[in-house]
Amino acid sequence: MRSRWSDEESRGLGELDLLVYASRLIGAETGLVVWGGGNTSLKVTERDFRGREVRVLRVKGSGSDLKSILRKDFPGVRMEEILALLEREAMGDQEMVGYLAHSLQELGGSRPSIETLLHGFLPFEAVIHTHADAIVSLTNNDRSAEVIREVYGSDVVQIPYRRPGFLLSKEVARALESNPGTRAVILEKHGTINWGRTPKETYLATIDLISRAEEAIAARSRGRARFGGPLVNHLAPPERRETALALAPFLRGLVSRDRRAILHFDDAPAVLEFVGSQEAGALSQVGPATPDHTIFTKRLPCFVPVEQSGDPDRLKTRLRDAVERFVSEYTRDFQAHRFEGANLQDPFPRVILIPGLGMFTTGKDRRTSLIVDDIYHHTISVLGAASAIGRYVSLTARDAFDVEYWPLELYKLALAPP
Ligand code: ZN
Repeated sequence: MRSRWSDEESRGLGELDLLVYASRLIGAETGLVVWGGGNTSLKVTERDFRGREVRVLRVKGSGSDLKSILRKDFPGVRMEEILALLEREAMGDQEMVGYLAHSLQELGGSRPSIETLLHGFLPFEAVIHTHADAIVSLTNNDRSAEVIREVYGSDVVQIPYRRPGFLLSKEVARALESNPGTRAVILEKHGTINWGRTPKETYLATIDLISRAEEAIAARSRGRARFGGPLVNHLAPPERRETALALAPFLRGLVSRDRRAILHFDDAPAVLEFVGSQEAGALSQVGPATPDHTIFTKRLPCFVPVEQSGDPDRLKTRLRDAVERFVSEYTRDFQAHRFEGANLQDPFPRVILIPGLGMFTTGKDRRTSLIVDDIYHHTISVLGAASAIGRYVSLTARDAFDVEYWPLELYKLALAPP
């Protein structure tokens, strides 16, 4: 991954504008963050409401997207209040959100990210947190510990998966105390944390961390057939179009029982390669690449097992069976991992994979179905890269459901609006 930093463009910018600049560069790279994911921060000195000088964490706020972020999207949280929390052993999500709301510099400004303490607990001026594809590719396989050691030596500390919140922030802070030479943190099945004295230093450290992962993946992928090679032949482009057109209204009917869904069809080469591969049936059913994908794509796609996709009537039967199976398995899993106060949400698939044909994605509107499509491209890329290293592994079903059923309000604080 190349650095997009330009000294020309950033010359003369104040410290907060440099944070905005670095954040937009991170957001511009979809291999680092997608659709509202990831966050950035800078600790600065400001005056509080009484005119006293205080240290303040400027951190990405809720509902903003790094690629288009503005100064106003970085609420200020007073550091004195943040550091007082280091004394605590535990804190619930709602309590934490309420506490941070009391610690803001501006009343009524945007709310700070649910990952605020991940930034605030670290003793460094600038912090960048991403959900990089290349990093989750390194962590989501059964050889991850060994590979990460090979790639980074003692430069990074790995933290086992835990949903974002107080405990994860505290674990990261503790891990750095006990490993003072560490240069970055890798959050398993989640992403990265880099830091530095300035946004530029931190941005460059992030790019370097990711580049090392990309090189390692490229070296291990060389000469290896992705996804075990092809199993189902692709239909020719005009036939694919015709078949997709014939299936779309039928599928739309199947998935619109509870709410109207808009479909998007995609037969890009990377999609065709994956859906028609030897490993797609099993690999697609392991789990998401990183928790923020889950919100848009659900934990699993609906895979339609077909040997060839020529006959639309036959395909419709397979499609109906596959969607019905998806709904009953989703409902069963929801009940098995039932969360307090959660009601079953729309149990229909967001991603439907059809060998030889391509992928349909669904959403409440066109924009959402396009976002789901974009995110699943990243999932495919991680599945391919992680499988080049070892056997793909993901969040447990419970952890994935835990993210999917995390209260909507908290999603908005942590990620993008669904
Ligand atoms: Zn995150």
